[in-house]
Amino acid sequence: MPRLETARRPNTSPRRAAGRDLQTTLSSCVALEGVGVHSGKPARIVLHPAEANAGVAVLRSDLAAEPVAPALWSRVVSTELCTSLGLGGRAAVATVEHAMAALAGLGVDNALIEVDGPEVPVLDGSSAPFVAAIDEAELATLTAERRHIEVLKTVRVERGAAFAELGPGAEGLTLDVEISFDHAAIGRQRKALRLDPATFRRELARARTFGFIGDIERLWRAGFALGASLENSIAISDAGVLNPEGLRFSDEFVRHKMLDAVGDLALAGAPIRGAFRSRCGGHALNHAVLQALFADASAWRLSPALAPMRGEMRPDIAAPIAFGVQPALAPDRS
Ligand SMILES: [Zn+2]
Repeated sequence: MPRLETARRPNTSPRRAAGRDLQTTLSSCVALEGVGVHSGKPARIVLHPAEANAGVAVLRSDLAAEPVAPALWSRVVSTELCTSLGLGGRAAVATVEHAMAALAGLGVDNALIEVDGPEVPVLDGSSAPFVAAIDEAELATLTAERRHIEVLKTVRVERGAAFAELGPGAEGLTLDVEISFDHAAIGRQRKALRLDPATFRRELARARTFGFIGDIERLWRAGFALGASLENSIAISDAGVLNPEGLRFSDEFVRHKMLDAVGDLALAGAPIRGAFRSRCGGHALNHAVLQALFADASAWRLSPALAPMRGEMRPDIAAPIAFGVQPALAPDRS
């Protein structure tokens, strides 16, 4: 286990939680094992508690230096097929979005994600195993007040007919996501909901990633998606869904796109209070809309307005971002 300040069991005070919106973390550590969907190699992560205001951070325990970085939009190094975070130098961690979605969906403000390789395990292709792990670890309420990123005006990014948008909202985060695939198994699907732990568990957490068998075979030949299987993805052929168990929801595809958006938007660094909309989006547009938000200091504020949470949330000192641009309508293994 890494010797980190954030790995210590935090001081918690559930007694003071009544009536206040307080930050949370995990009560204990919990591990998950599986394979990386792209590497096909065994992968293990451990979710650790973290102190108030630490946010979520990612650590590579397999590298001698144990590089660690905050899980923030400014650390995104690739949005191709999945969302990858750079930890400094050449170290990165891929496929963070389903774990991030589970943490954000259940309202976990502070945690350390320890990974023993370059990729978070894909598990069943959804956030459900991470939700089960967080439930096993249990939440702890901290004494620090939760802060939100309040969206003050609409920012929008477009690529062709695809777009992602963040605008002011009444309370919390609402999502309105639409996808359109020229395939009878998917077609046009749209879903809207207000995010809270109950809606995340019920509506989104179990929705799995998906891909078209032709794309998967092409990715295999290129050395990607080596861990992809019917155990961790919905595979679609011309004949329809190949998984013998079928779908978990009739509109599982748009639900998974929304789950991905929850995970990608969690890289804002704090819960967003606003309205997210996207059409034919994916990781690249989800990231681009956060870039657009933080590029405009008049488009957002921390609420309640206290000292900045972490330096990297401030766009003026954020590291330059270089991420692979993918066509927004390309087959997205999300
Ligand atoms: Zn996904």
